[in-house]
Amino acid sequence: MQQLPRNDGSKAEQAAAFRKFIRLAQELDLPLIIHARDAADDVIRILKEERRENFRGVMHCFSGDKKFLKECLDIGLYISFTCSLTFKNADDLREVAKLAPIEKVLLETDAPYLAPQKFRGHRNEPAYLQYLADQWVELTGLAKNDIERITAHNANALFKLYPSGKPRIAYEIRNSLYLNITNRCTNLCNFCIRTKTDFVKGHNLMLDKEPTVGEILKAVGDPAKYDEIVFCGYGEPTMRLDEVKAVAKELKAKGVKLRLVTNGHGDLINSRPIAGELAGIIDRVSVSLNAETEEKYDKICAPKFGPGSFRRVLDFIKDCVKQGIETEVTCLDLEGIDIKKCEEFAGSAGAKFRLRRYGVTG
Ligand code: SF4
Repeated sequence: MQQLPRNDGSKAEQAAAFRKFIRLAQELDLPLIIHARDAADDVIRILKEERRENFRGVMHCFSGDKKFLKECLDIGLYISFTCSLTFKNADDLREVAKLAPIEKVLLETDAPYLAPQKFRGHRNEPAYLQYLADQWVELTGLAKNDIERITAHNANALFKLYPSGKPRIAYEIRNSLYLNITNRCTNLCNFCIRTKTDFVKGHNLMLDKEPTVGEILKAVGDPAKYDEIVFCGYGEPTMRLDEVKAVAKELKAKGVKLRLVTNGHGDLINSRPIAGELAGIIDRVSVSLNAETEEKYDKICAPKFGPGSFRRVLDFIKDCVKQGIETEVTCLDLEGIDIKKCEEFAGSAGAKFRLRRYGVTG
């Protein structure tokens, strides 16, 4: 195979050509595939200068450091890793890769080059992509079919390859099944990803209509397959408390472990304390708090019920604990939130605490 010359042209000529391609891609609404070697600062600077609204692209064969990764992500690029991520001596690259949200990752071979560790020195080929997927299972703790689905969805979003998937009532992540029963919510959190994408981990969660109890149970299929079934979608499940209870009762009778992920507004939504109604059918409740004071809560979550909502969320958490439900308080690692105070509140209420990384869903 004939090798193309490297650095064929001055730096100024390369930069001018790069700008032309960026403009052309945006004019034609096509994605850019960028290969940057020893030019990270120049590439980022030029992209920032030339980027317009419809810009989309991927940093091909990523091998940069944490700073370059962050800059690429900030610009909105997808990050494509090759099988070099599987190399024995690629610990540094794996540490960088861990910081890439899987929702922005693509997998590629760079064939015929960079065969995975197992076939190092041989010709690379598409069939070997599975070894790169295995590496991502190790890095993320997700299941292999999660990695396949998410990265396929990412490629679709970047290249506009095929129509988006159908809306999902039930969707799998790892060995858990999540139930997406409404897209309505009584908060308008400033970090909510519903306003940015219809998809979570490659699943389309924008419902055409709210499913009935029968439709939800049908979507569950065989519940014995899962470690846990979780009421958690693109909306607040307790807005459909009757359906939550009906589905939970059916599944509980089959011995399934059930969890409710909620914004804690259930009492306000249903105009009565609801923890007692959840006891016995819901094993665990995860309540998103995301603030340590009412003022911050109102600013971050913009609750529909206005002032006083924060206190009612705290009351709901305490009630769940009193009812003997395993309760956890969750907070995103957002700047400005006093995580320690949130954790202290959880402890004082008898609840567990879990810090969630912003941008990581499911
Ligand atoms: S509570 Fe959840 S679904 Fe509702 S706005 Fe906030 S992040 Fe979005």
